[in-house]
Amino acid sequence: MKELKDYVRTIPNFPEEGIMFRDITSVLQDPDGFKLAIDEMMDLVKDLDFDVVLGAESRGFIFSAPIAYARGKGLVPVRKKGKLPCETIEVEYDLEYGKAVLELHKDAIKPGQKVLLVDDLMATGGTIEAMIKLVEKLGGEVAGILVLMELKGLKGRERLSKYRLDSAISYE
Ligand code: 5GP
Repeated sequence: MKELKDYVRTIPNFPEEGIMFRDITSVLQDPDGFKLAIDEMMDLVKDLDFDVVLGAESRGFIFSAPIAYARGKGLVPVRKKGKLPCETIEVEYDLEYGKAVLELHKDAIKPGQKVLLVDDLMATGGTIEAMIKLVEKLGGEVAGILVLMELKGLKGRERLSKYRLDSAISYE
């Protein structure tokens, strides 16, 4: 029996020299891999109470959508700057080189709503931290963070230690 990790393809030196890129396309294109990924992520949060799912552009959309659907919750996309049509709030965060901006519609989260944050992978935790800032600015409460993969060496978990964080796969 193949494990979930066996479906992830690792590409050395992509997109830059020295990076071991964890590719999810090999998980998604295999019906057993995709099912296992969603089933395992769902299982990690089966006891968690939340009102809405927040998915990070763009790979986070893929995993957040089936989870929101299966749990009977709404799905809120967090997008890169300039993509959302209505009034937004934004947060700037650091990338390895330079900065980026994420946006959320102002009416997407109501004060007091419990939010589950979903992405494909957590490295430094910077992207998730930016999502947390957006949720909390609107008065939402972070119920939990769910990622398919976590890179332990980059200490994202320590950075986000105030929050519940579940990952289906972790790499040292
Ligand atoms: P962080 O902000 O935690 O440093 O980086 C996480 C973000 O970068 C996620 O949105 C994720 O999609 C992307 N990312 C960084 N490294 C990888 C990788 O090896 N594989 C995949 N699939 N995404 C990555």
